[in-house]
Amino acid sequence: VYILAIESSCDETAAAVVKNGREVLSNVISSQIALHTLFGGVVPEIASRKHIEKINQVIQEALDEADMTLDEMTAVGVTYGPGLVGALLVGVSAAKAIAYAKKLPLIGVHHIEGHVSANFIENKELEPPFLCLIVSGGHTHLVKMKDYGEFEIIGRTRDDAAGEAFDKVARAIGLGYPGGPKIDKAAREGNPHAMEFPRAKIEGAPYDFSFSGLKSAVLNYLNHEKMRGEEVSRNDLAASFQNAVVESLVSRTILAAREFNIRDVVIAGGVASNSALRAAMKVACEKEGFRFYYPSPALCTDNAAMIGAAAYYEYQKGTRSGWDLNAVPNLKLGER
Ligand code: ATP
Ligand code: MG
Ligand code: FE
Repeated sequence: VYILAIESSCDETAAAVVKNGREVLSNVISSQIALHTLFGGVVPEIASRKHIEKINQVIQEALDEADMTLDEMTAVGVTYGPGLVGALLVGVSAAKAIAYAKKLPLIGVHHIEGHVSANFIENKELEPPFLCLIVSGGHTHLVKMKDYGEFEIIGRTRDDAAGEAFDKVARAIGLGYPGGPKIDKAAREGNPHAMEFPRAKIEGAPYDFSFSGLKSAVLNYLNHEKMRGEEVSRNDLAASFQNAVVESLVSRTILAAREFNIRDVVIAGGVASNSALRAAMKVACEKEGFRFYYPSPALCTDNAAMIGAAAYYEYQKGTRSGWDLNAVPNLKLGER
């Protein structure tokens, strides 16, 4: 089974050819980061226009790199939500046009199912059920993957997503956009115990997260020190903030794995590429005797190979989308 996969939910135009859900024959990404950096974040209207300019070229490159033609594809998989509506529509329209012209099945893919499925590509032995910590720009969820594409939500953030917190703190301390990788880098030069920031706990919801209080604490600290005329070490601030996020993420994940008796722990989404999170989760899982899986950094952030992996398992389950497939910007986890 060969899936042509298309992803355009945010600021990367991406296409891939994936064989049997786990083998990536090509994975092409055209990133708009440089363009949006000018504005300090993703500008939706600019993103849609750029996707339109790039999409055909990116799809052709994916086919060329795989050394295959559209006639050899089994199905077309495309992200239809969640994401920016105008951006999603570009991928969905392209996928529909190809599927219709080539008489191929069309499979609408949930972007977050894609992030989770990125783990199948490099970990051939990984199969559900497993516990997954989803940490991306818009999501922070602790889920039990009961089967391919079947989520049981155990915990979620009450406010900001982890990636969002990284991006906001990075902006506040002048590291710019995109914040996650910049904090990760600065933190390597800083002391994670230099400042003591709060780890929020939610009464009666042991698996839920909250990052807005942490973000405010970082901003307050910064303002306070500035008022006193003190020089703040950006590296220490980045390391201390990151440490607080990582501790919250790891402690709840381990707690849930123990409580639900799941021995396979998986992380997914852009923040899963964070070096401190990977290191801390690895140590914690080893201590507990859990197996720990994570995608390589390039497969953590948005890409189309992960959409191809998810589409394959949906294809096997018989999932097919109609020609009325539409972009669903606020598609919820576990919804289709
Ligand atoms: P979603 O998948 O929820 O729709 P998204 O697609 O915008 O959101 P991703 O592409 O999965 O999000 O991830 C982007 C996020 O990951 C950004 O918030 C970015 O700051 C964060 N991120 C990327 N690399 C790192 C890193 N090394 N450390 C921490 N955060 C990171
Ligand atoms: Mg992105
Ligand atoms: Fe994403």
